[in-house]
Amino acid sequence: MSPQNLVVIGASLAGLRAAEAARKAGFSGTITMVGAEHHLPYDRPPLSKAYLDGVEPKAPYFRTEEKLRDDLGVELLLGASATGLDTANKQVLLGESRLDYDALVIATGATARRLPGVAGLAGVHTLRTLDDAMAVRGALDAGARTVVVGCGFIGSEVASGARKRGLEVTVVEAQPTPLARAVGDEMGRVCAKLHHRHGTDLRCGVGVERIEGEGRVERVVLSDGTAIDADLVVVGIGAEPNTEWLAGSGLALDDGVVCDEYLCAGDGIYAAGDVARWHNPLFDRAMRLEHWTSAAEQAAVAARNAVHPAEAKPYRTVPYFWSDWYDSRIQFVGIPAAEEVRIVEGDPARDRRVVALYREGDRLVGALTINGQNVIMKFRGLIMKGASWADAVAFAEQRRAVAASA
Ligand SMILES: Cc1cc2nc3c(=O)[nH]c(=O)nc-3n(C[C@H](O)[C@H](O)[C@H](O)COP(=O)(O)OP(=O)(O)OC[C@H]3O[C@@H](n4cnc5c(N)ncnc54)[C@H](O)[C@@H]3O)c2cc1C
Repeated sequence: MSPQNLVVIGASLAGLRAAEAARKAGFSGTITMVGAEHHLPYDRPPLSKAYLDGVEPKAPYFRTEEKLRDDLGVELLLGASATGLDTANKQVLLGESRLDYDALVIATGATARRLPGVAGLAGVHTLRTLDDAMAVRGALDAGARTVVVGCGFIGSEVASGARKRGLEVTVVEAQPTPLARAVGDEMGRVCAKLHHRHGTDLRCGVGVERIEGEGRVERVVLSDGTAIDADLVVVGIGAEPNTEWLAGSGLALDDGVVCDEYLCAGDGIYAAGDVARWHNPLFDRAMRLEHWTSAAEQAAVAARNAVHPAEAKPYRTVPYFWSDWYDSRIQFVGIPAAEEVRIVEGDPARDRRVVALYREGDRLVGALTINGQNVIMKFRGLIMKGASWADAVAFAEQRRAVAASA
């Protein structure tokens, strides 16, 4: 019998897209969405971008409560955390109460990693939620001297937002090269130049020894002994998938909920978004992505597979993310593990626009652009089709020639 009772745990991007996709696929049963935050589902990328700018911010909610209830027919339980999963009885535990499901989508996302020893120290924040963003924005409004710990994408966007307001910003990165895991060493160095160009003090290869202050942050002491005065510290050192509530449920957990290529994690159970680790058939490997596009796409596939299991389809994708730093957009498609990275357009020392390709064997496996919005998706398409390295380089040459003659 097809499922009649869909439960979605997590009321953010993946949770919402799952509900939308289930309805689009003709599901007419009940949908209950449970979210730990008190907010309606909202969009996270603006939190480290437009939301931090000087202009009056708009809370980035996807839909009103009425639209969720009346148009999508979703019963929302906000401010409620799933605390366990009983797969034998097909029930989600919410503290003392239990919620029956016959199809379940797990979309509990991830939580920002924190630095130890700073609990209760005012002025030290992570940036994952709307509440975090409000606090960071308030500090920037007050003209905070800002220290960002970790030169990842979110930390770099915070630095960029602070510099746009003319504030002093230092970014501390423990690794010798920023973003090495995300885009490789060479292009990590290229991206880092954007910080130098915009007056951000980027210090790599040095850790944070401790954060000092009487009740409120006053300075950050680095492992080389340097002390940086600070009113605001934003910690951007990655995120952990929210799987604690699934401990003991029998689901396989390994840095995320382990799923097959159908995003299936167990009997009637699917996962999507930042919490899901699934087998991506396109690269024949397990992946867990923390990217907006894959969270939305996975949710749609997971929900369709959950409500129509007999017609389940695998989810295959070329990973994609973007990030906005200062006046530049960085975009990446594919995977950064490469034998060769070749800059095929632009001189990073001089030009605003840079295009780099990533080779593994004789295949194109990745592409990074800075201000290359009109070309990045072409490379995503080439990777999807399994294009050869020679074809990809020839395509890039042709695009460059066309751009130069325009
Ligand atoms: C500041 C910021 C900027 C970003 N910018 C970009 C960008 O520029 N480009 C890009 O590609 N990606 C970006 N991302 C990543 C993107 O936003 C995420 O990939 C996306 O939000 C993942 O959606 P999700 O629904 O899987 O998880 P989340 O958005 O993390 O949502 C999970 C929800 O589940 C809830 N939850 C957790 N545990 C439970 C529980 N036990 N019971 C009930 N509810 C629970 C959480 O409270 C949360 O509301 C950014 C992320 C952040 C934080």
